[in-house]
Amino acid sequence: MKTSLAIPVQKIEKSKIQETDFSNLIFGKTISDHMFVADYVNGEWTDLRIVPYGPLDLHPANAALHYGQSIFEGMKAYKNDKGEILIFRGDANARRMNESATRMCMPEIPEEIFMEGLLQLLDLDRNWVPSGKGASLYIRPYMFAMDNYIGVKPSDTYKFIIFTCPVGAYYSKPVNVKVETAFTRATEGGTGAAKTAGNYAASLFPALQAQREGYDQLLWTDGKSHSKIEESGTMNVMFDINGTLITAPTHTGTILKGITRDSVIQLAKDWGKPLEERFLTVSELQEALEDGSLREAFGTGTAATIAHIAKINVNGKDYNLPEKGPDAFSNKVLNELDGIKYGTIPDSRGWIVKI
Ligand SMILES: *Cc1c(COP(=O)(O)O)cnc(C)c1O
Repeated sequence: MKTSLAIPVQKIEKSKIQETDFSNLIFGKTISDHMFVADYVNGEWTDLRIVPYGPLDLHPANAALHYGQSIFEGMKAYKNDKGEILIFRGDANARRMNESATRMCMPEIPEEIFMEGLLQLLDLDRNWVPSGKGASLYIRPYMFAMDNYIGVKPSDTYKFIIFTCPVGAYYSKPVNVKVETAFTRATEGGTGAAKTAGNYAASLFPALQAQREGYDQLLWTDGKSHSKIEESGTMNVMFDINGTLITAPTHTGTILKGITRDSVIQLAKDWGKPLEERFLTVSELQEALEDGSLREAFGTGTAATIAHIAKINVNGKDYNLPEKGPDAFSNKVLNELDGIKYGTIPDSRGWIVKI
């Protein structure tokens, strides 16, 4: 992919890569040498630059710290066996970031700036993209308010940053989840569809309660009746009931429109897998667990791609899911997506950009 924006680069004096133990990476802890930065001032994005990753100067009155105008994205790049870097559906992340921006009264970041900044950053830090099965480079684009003003109003200035973290094989051990019917993640008219900081802050307390009870994550239900399954904390969820894949629709504005979710749906459609985008009720779920028609349940998201669910707590009762057979839909979909991401399966859908 050729690049067109001239982005000045200030290189790090001494790369940290020699001191990095790539065989022992903890998710989100190791950060690559450089970051891409742009500032929004006087109604336009200016001062695009790539600089060494390092601390920011922030005023104590920074508006994002007080009122939470802060949005982010999460995506990944992979290395194929020729040493090329493959970015999976980055254009979809750029578009989703702008949907979040609109909801939070923040300026859109032009897709060209997002993608060019990303491509040039990855090209510079290409040695940080790990190779090997399951390894990848996690990419964190984000934007936040920069006004030094504590009146409640949309900020006039913003900062957009992309930094990256090499991550090792994500051993997705099956997760135990609990259907949450007291706390609420999102309600209609709220911010559930935006990848904005406050949603995650609000979910920490309920998630911690569940962790103390021995569950890894929550399955959120709708905020009004708590009778319909929505999604998990950082993953959408899918259920296979009697061979039909069921996942929550996104029109209510309470569900984060996962790109993994969309990719799994596209594959399911291409393969003729029966699919229903509708809300599964908590009682339907409980029935399907009791009568054995629930074949599998899994989360979909960038970090794990597919996270199998081993146990679900519904209305205070634990249900163990059946052992997943080798021909389970989730295995097939995981292998296909991994193949596309690492370049061993041809990309027929325009999902990959190569550097
Ligand atoms: C990011 C996220 C997802 C998953 O989105 P992907 O694009 O598949 O990574 C799902 N739910 C929530 C709440 C999220 O924040």
